[in-house]
Amino acid sequence: MQKFLTIAIDGGAATGKSSTAKGVAAKLGLMHVDTGAHYRALTHLFLTHGVAPEDAPGIARLLAQSPIGTFVEKGGCDAKIEVDGAVPAESDIRGDAVNASVSKFAAVPAVRAALKDYQRGQREIARAHGYAGLAMEGRDIGSVIFPDADLKIFLEADAATRAKRREKDGQADAVTERDKLDSTRKTAPLVCPEGAVRIDNSHMTLAEVIDAIAALAAKLS
Ligand code: C5P
Repeated sequence: MQKFLTIAIDGGAATGKSSTAKGVAAKLGLMHVDTGAHYRALTHLFLTHGVAPEDAPGIARLLAQSPIGTFVEKGGCDAKIEVDGAVPAESDIRGDAVNASVSKFAAVPAVRAALKDYQRGQREIARAHGYAGLAMEGRDIGSVIFPDADLKIFLEADAATRAKRREKDGQADAVTERDKLDSTRKTAPLVCPEGAVRIDNSHMTLAEVIDAIAALAAKLS
């Protein structure tokens, strides 16, 4: 039997993590998990209930009241977070309001603690659904969630490339500002994890990046 593969893909905002992780998952038969979407989904929940990042009791109350689950796409490779039994709409979690405050909520230890257990549990969900492994993307996957990952990738891209990518997505998103908050927070800051392979994709096509990661994964077996 083939070994169950865990691939951790970390990097700053607009470094191409999602397209890369999705492409790697599709190519290798892995389940894809976008942990940025987890923080975005909870941020949307807090904003909808008028709870601010400084409101620790409000955050604790909402976390206790709102069960989170996982929806696994049939015939595809995406596993999405459900909050209160429903997958939040993409338009809700990727809008300007969430962009502007997600990094503040992501710095709150109670929020990170709730998602840490949930994210670690994704490995079992991938196994139960028959995937050959898990490709999880985020900011702390190789450093905190799965320090034992079989392969750790740290994606980078120059500032001009990242700004162009966000512009193409039609998003008003202060990626440098988010990176600064994400890299300087106390709990699980964005770092290049120990043992990670750095890939600067500024001048690479998506297919080239996916192939490079698949080639590294092939060397493991
Ligand atoms: O990946 P994405 O840009 O959608 O992530 C949104 C935000 O979620 C990040 O800017 C960061 O604040 C937070 N995040 C995090 N840890 C992760 C994934 C995302 O703190 N593993």
